[in-house]
Parts: sequence; structure tokens; C-alpha cells
Amino acid sequence: MKPNGTSLNIPPNGTPSLNGNNMNGKHHNGHNYDEQLIDDIGDEHGAAAIDTPMRPDAFDLDNDTKIDLIEEHFREIMGILGLDLTDDSLKGSPRRVAKMYVTEIFRGLDPANKPLPTLFENKFRYNEMLVEKDILVQTYCEHHFVPVIGKAHIAYISSGKVIGLSKLNRIVEYFSKRPQVQERLTVQIADELKKVLETEDVAVIVDAKHLCVSTRGVHDINSSTITAAYGGKFEEDATRQEFLRYIGCSNVTI
Ligand SMILES: [Zn+2]
Repeated sequence: MKPNGTSLNIPPNGTPSLNGNNMNGKHHNGHNYDEQLIDDIGDEHGAAAIDTPMRPDAFDLDNDTKIDLIEEHFREIMGILGLDLTDDSLKGSPRRVAKMYVTEIFRGLDPANKPLPTLFENKFRYNEMLVEKDILVQTYCEHHFVPVIGKAHIAYISSGKVIGLSKLNRIVEYFSKRPQVQERLTVQIADELKKVLETEDVAVIVDAKHLCVSTRGVHDINSSTITAAYGGKFEEDATRQEFLRYIGCSNVTI
């Protein structure tokens, strides 16, 4: 559905209004942001709250309306940049970007897309560590909205339940399809695994390259960032070292 002139005005710290003309949302000429602070927060990639900061009305709009609105606003951004939206190559871009945001790269914002865990009884009474390594991570820096690409390594020790291996990938994927900071992504994956597997004995390492570090700012194409979350038995050095050996990170000091 086409919102027909609807605009979502979101002031920086205030209450959003639909169809409103809330001037707090306008920043041109005498905006109230501290530019240096914005750059610093982005470049330091500091950890924020564990829960993704969501507005209480995050799902008041349906996906079709969100796509229509984002399309409208992205067209405006392209226009402000000076791009000619009548060009054959460019004219479909606002719609493409809007659909990509809502249905692909940020679909993990919607709890309706959360994977349902398939649990099995641990019939083999396998009480050792299970490790799944090199799980693809494709997420997006919430400070710059560019990709962060890397791998996740997951381990758990069964409390009596085991999870389908592909569900580990699905959980990583779900929390990745959001604007993220890597620290939060790591903890969100670990917390979900603890809940689903009913155990604290969970370890998650994420090793990823940030395109906002490699393609802008300091232009460092070589560095990657490692974050880790350890629970239960993985807080013990011997268990942790075993995990690190399995994933080939034994020389890495975390
Ligand atoms: Zn960034």
C-alpha cells in the first residue's frame, strides 16, 4: 500500500509522530548534533546495551508500508546527493534498497523471523563439547550501515538437549540481520543459545572485518575484530583452551 504523503518524523530524542511536521526532526542549519561526538562513537564502535535498542512502536507499521516509506526517503537522499532519479539505472534503486532493508538485511529486527529451535534428546549421552566453527557472519555496522563480514565459532556442552546444527547457523543469521555492534551480536547469540539449550555452558567467538574500518576512516584492510562470550564451564581456563584449540585460535589472547 502506498502511504500517500505519510512521513515518519523521528526527532533525535523525542517521540515520533506520523503525518506530523515535527520540527525537532530537522537538523539543517543549526542542527543540535555534535559532529565530532558522532564520528567518535562510530569509530570506536563501543558496545551499547545488550538488547537492540528498539522503539516501542517498532511494528506498528506493516512491512509493505515500511518499504513504501523507506523508498520515499531513500529517493530523497539520492536526490539530495545530486543523483538523477530519471536515469534508467538509478530509478529503481530506492525501491530496491527499501525492500533489501526490510526483507533481507534487517529482517532480524522482527521477532517474527526468529528461528524456532528444534531440540533433540541427547540419546548418545554425548557429554563433551560440541563445536561448530566457521559459521558465516554477514551483519551491518549500526554506526555506518555498511557490512561487517566474518565468522562465528560456537560451542556448547549439552545439558541433555542438543540442537540441530543448521539451527546454530540460523541463530547467528537472525541476530546478524540487524544494524549491530559486534560485541552485542556476540552476546545476543550466546544468550539465545543459553536459553534454547537450557545451559550456561556456551561459548561464542565472532571474528569479523568491518567495512567501515577498511573502506573509510583509517582504511585498514587487514585488521579484524574478535569478540567472545563465555558462560558456565567455558569460564574455566581448561575448557576455554580446548575450545580455542578446536577452532585454531589457541594463540589468540582474548
Ligand atoms: Zn562502523
